[in-house]
Amino acid sequence: MAAYEYETHEFDVVVVGAGGAGLRATLGMAEQGLRTACVTKVFPTRSHTVAAQGGIAASLSNMGPDNWQWHMFDTVKGSDWLGDMDAMEYLARAAPEAVYELEHYGVPFSRTEEGKIYQRPFGGHTTEFGEGPPVQRTCAAADRTGHAILHTLYGQSLKQKAEFYIEYFAIDLVITDGACTGVVCWKLDDGTIHVFNAKMVVLATGGYGRAYFSCTSAHTCTGDGGGMAARAGLPLQDMEFVQFHPTGIYGSGCLITEGARGEGGYLTNSEGERFMERYAPHYKDLASRDVVSRCITMEIREGRGVGRDKDHIHLNLMHLPPEALHERLPGISESARVFAGVDVTRDPIPVLPTVHYNMGGIPTNYLGEVLDPSEDDPQRVYPGLMAVGEAGCASVHGANRLGSNSLIDLVVFGRAAAIRAGEVIDRDAPVPATNREQVDRALARFDALRHASGGTPTAELRLEMQKTMQADAAVFRTAETLSEGVTNMTAVAGKLDDLHVTDRSLIWNTDLMETLELTNLMPNALATIVGAEARKESRGAHAREDFTDRDDENWRVHTLARVDGNSVALSYRPVVIDPLTSPAEGGVDPEKIAPRARVY
Ligand SMILES: Cc1cc2nc3c(=O)[nH]c(=O)nc-3n(C[C@H](O)[C@H](O)[C@H](O)COP(=O)(O)OP(=O)(O)OC[C@H]3O[C@@H](n4cnc5c(N)ncnc54)[C@H](O)[C@@H]3O)c2cc1C
Repeated sequence: MAAYEYETHEFDVVVVGAGGAGLRATLGMAEQGLRTACVTKVFPTRSHTVAAQGGIAASLSNMGPDNWQWHMFDTVKGSDWLGDMDAMEYLARAAPEAVYELEHYGVPFSRTEEGKIYQRPFGGHTTEFGEGPPVQRTCAAADRTGHAILHTLYGQSLKQKAEFYIEYFAIDLVITDGACTGVVCWKLDDGTIHVFNAKMVVLATGGYGRAYFSCTSAHTCTGDGGGMAARAGLPLQDMEFVQFHPTGIYGSGCLITEGARGEGGYLTNSEGERFMERYAPHYKDLASRDVVSRCITMEIREGRGVGRDKDHIHLNLMHLPPEALHERLPGISESARVFAGVDVTRDPIPVLPTVHYNMGGIPTNYLGEVLDPSEDDPQRVYPGLMAVGEAGCASVHGANRLGSNSLIDLVVFGRAAAIRAGEVIDRDAPVPATNREQVDRALARFDALRHASGGTPTAELRLEMQKTMQADAAVFRTAETLSEGVTNMTAVAGKLDDLHVTDRSLIWNTDLMETLELTNLMPNALATIVGAEARKESRGAHAREDFTDRDDENWRVHTLARVDGNSVALSYRPVVIDPLTSPAEGGVDPEKIAPRARVY
């Protein structure tokens, strides 16, 4: 191996990732007086959070009656009873405060006539524990909510003097005696290596949408945190639950926010029928995402798709007043024009379900601490490591995430992690020393990839993985597609040993960076397909044609997948069924959140 020199840095906390979750954590850590670094492979405001359109859920009651208990119920039902009750309660209760905090930090929310934060309806968000009409709970800054939040949080983090290491790629975690003690990074613009020693590392690296061929997420969403955790021997949780957004633009996969249906848009098939009325008589086009995605897929399968190949569906906004489109949905009007050549005031947008969000991730408790569950202790905390945002799995989204519940997850748990770190980190203790052996191990892997001279170019293997996942871990799943998927993905992952990297340099070597990313995507993809094959039921986004019902008796459990090379070992962890607060203390009535059929 080439000898690598490295520079070392010492911090109380190193946050890897500068999306909404990473920035909210960074800001909070710095506010606690912890010496905090934020390492990010892209410029902070280019993180995928910037693309979030629709909004952020919180029961502010600005547009009608609402409360945290209804929000919690909707989240529980949305999760198809796979979410952890403690975390879901924490999310719903903390949400209003977290949004007001964003407002005070300077997020330019859209406003009502009276000057309050504007809120729109979103799928699955209801009143009266699912008995009442849809609620307007999703706070929005037009259809550029993520953009507004990310810019504000970056500014605030700078104000708090957090130190940013921008265009640094985290290669691997440093593990010392069963605890995380740092992270090894490669500085992309000058090729130098940097070792960050820290008392706490926070993974906020986002999702792994790019494991699929068609997705709404940025090219940078490559599950790097999950890859690093898997290599450290930690499990990934509930990876089989992958959300397909009902309305990706046909062809490009670019997202049209659910806010479009929230503002009154509706779907039609080739007969011009508003088919959602048949499947979800009550909430229609505002049923939850997994439900709408399946209905679209069924319409297409039954020959009622639109277009030459009858392989997509129409989203209609033409009936909405042009002023409303201009004011509330300017971004998607532009996306439809650019990516589908459609003027939304005249023509419907061609749409298709597209991979959008990963419910699974690195398991954590509701304080952001990473869990390494054992048989005797399903809540065992792994020292020195936290995970927040889409990279983590708290788990508030369970088997299916509600729209606008991710942005709130980022800020609520980013904040929770900072509060927790403030409690557990001993400010006077020394920062862990450099673990040379572990650093060398990470650099040996890096060096091997840099000089990889096999027969398979990275782009080729990536495409093979993406097509396999798209075909075999799709909206509908069968025993056949899944077992075929496991065989195919095991073979695809096996080819990581045969990669070919052309560029051997260390400066702006995108070939090497994409190769490192592929080695991270792969364990995420494998855990997804193996977990899906094993789960013999249908729940949330995991819809099997051979096991069409939810099976609470056997399967109300979290999947834990430990990935080693191209083999995956599965185990299971019970779902947390007790909320944080009892009804006597003002908690939600257990009857209300007890499992029942999930109809919209
Ligand atoms: C198009 C689109 C629209 C959406 N709209 C909404 C919405 O309206 N409401 C809602 O609630 N949710 C929405 N979502 C979901 C939500 O936006 C995402 O789940 C969320 O933004 C993820 O945030 P994050 O902070 O976890 O990660 P990201 O924003 O993806 O950030 C990841 C960060 O990690 C860094 N990173 C990753 N790997 C490395 C590495 N190896 N080394 C160093 N740094 C690394 C990156 O540089 C980046 O800064 C949307 C998602 C998409 C794709």
